[in-house]
Amino acid sequence: MDYKELADLIYPDIKDASYYEEKYPERNLPEGAMVVRFAPSPTGFVHIGGIFTSVICSKLAKQTGGVFMLRIEDTDQKREVENGVNGIIDALKKFNLVPDEGMIDENTSKGAYGPYKQSQRKEIYQAFAKKLIAEKRAYPCFCKQEDIDKMREKQESAKIRPGYYGEWATCRNLGLDEIERRIKNGEEYIIRLRSLGNPEKKIKHHDVIKGNIDFPENDQDIVIIKSDGLPTYHFAHAVDDHLMRTTHVIRGDEWLSSLPVHLELFNALGVKPPKYAHIAPIMKEEDGAKRKLSKRKDPEAAVEYYAKEGIPAEAAKEYLLNIANSNFEGWRRQNKNAPIDEFELQLNKMSVSGALFDMVKLLDISKSVISRLTKEEVYDYAINYANEYDEDLKNLLEKDKEYTLKVLGIERGNEKPRKDIAKWSDLKDNIEYMYDDRFFSKNREYVYQNINDKEEIQNIITEYIDNYFDISDDKQTWFNKIKDLAEKFGYAREVKEYKQNPEKFKGHVGDVSTVIRIALTGRANTPDMYEIMQVLGKESVIKRLKCAILN
Ligand code: GLU
Repeated sequence: MDYKELADLIYPDIKDASYYEEKYPERNLPEGAMVVRFAPSPTGFVHIGGIFTSVICSKLAKQTGGVFMLRIEDTDQKREVENGVNGIIDALKKFNLVPDEGMIDENTSKGAYGPYKQSQRKEIYQAFAKKLIAEKRAYPCFCKQEDIDKMREKQESAKIRPGYYGEWATCRNLGLDEIERRIKNGEEYIIRLRSLGNPEKKIKHHDVIKGNIDFPENDQDIVIIKSDGLPTYHFAHAVDDHLMRTTHVIRGDEWLSSLPVHLELFNALGVKPPKYAHIAPIMKEEDGAKRKLSKRKDPEAAVEYYAKEGIPAEAAKEYLLNIANSNFEGWRRQNKNAPIDEFELQLNKMSVSGALFDMVKLLDISKSVISRLTKEEVYDYAINYANEYDEDLKNLLEKDKEYTLKVLGIERGNEKPRKDIAKWSDLKDNIEYMYDDRFFSKNREYVYQNINDKEEIQNIITEYIDNYFDISDDKQTWFNKIKDLAEKFGYAREVKEYKQNPEKFKGHVGDVSTVIRIALTGRANTPDMYEIMQVLGKESVIKRLKCAILN
């Protein structure tokens, strides 16, 4: 028996690897096109780091006329959960990340390089394992778990580098006759790579993100096919990324240490490895120390968090691009209203170490993203959010849609749009006072600021209603009248004027307009008061102001 016959004995019905080489030819894409993939395991939890990888992959594919694939890595079936694939697909959808190829639901996929679920590619991996066996680059290993455990103990007590390699790799030297006999006897086995590496030698590698790295060659005879016939991550990665014609493997840097194994696998398969870009994880600061954003400790690590909080997907995406390329911020400053697609992402500008997750910055970006929306868009987003998470907000928004649109339209669409909404979960509190039924249903306590003498306040409001307020005034006239009102009560018409001679005045126009603002809305901070009055209408304004006088 020779190695070719051994390969046939192990995989009698498996096709030749060349069949798959032909079935999945080189892609016919423009020069520089990047073929990339997001390759999660369906474990039931989608980490924001996965969205980070996908944002990068999808952006690069789009930018270069390439392909973004979603490949499901479900070869570790112990870790799989029901509906895990749908969970991943839904999460991507929430962030408008739609792969060009790959799984589109639990069992369906699109694209000519599938199947895109590893458990459906068993025969493909076996075809390549068969090729390696025939070429003496892989062999069956009959060692039982207890043999491996014993070996490890020995290595540990002798302080020897652990693993299945060199003289420790007992099955690599079994004779063909013995192998044949044991297989025919029905003994269980797995398939291992026959490593030709020498750890005394260094591999020089260039990672697109991490730069040049040297590391020792691999000499471990790693498992490529497990006893259930499915491949290990390492082998599946090499076979899949070769056959799917991936140009760039973009993945978490926890895989960097496996790179020597992966490079050897590509070498054993006789194919060119893809380029690698290892992304540093998103970090969190805790007690002055940095650690990875954790699925157990940090709610913002979970993709659902963003939906529940009502942080728009665009904002989260934009924030992730900020983390990805530090020049994004400057680009945004110069292109205030441009869609993020116009930004050119560069892999080699990604930071080598992990960026800190910064919620304040994310919410700040979110405020800007929301400020750029039209009132109709705000309405649609808010309704979608409310439908899922806040019945009361839904009622508020829907009761009089036309009026709601006016409320949402305040300070929108102009040079400096309002930037006071960071997430949809804040919206109710942000607009509720604009609805008379809600406004008057609360027993409110008016907290005035600089002017707090009750009589003075009542006089100012009364005088405003009686002699100054006219809903048909244009903005300039309206504002001049507030100044007139201020002057009448002994307050400076301009802040500057007051600052020059504070002793001459009781205060300034801002103090007077704050009185009216608080009387009108119950709040010291609101968007433009003129616009608010226009939306509320004459009757509501007067009713509110009178109510404040009585309070
Ligand atoms: N299934 C691996 C993971 O979830 C994928 C790593 C890769 O992108 O190759 O970590």
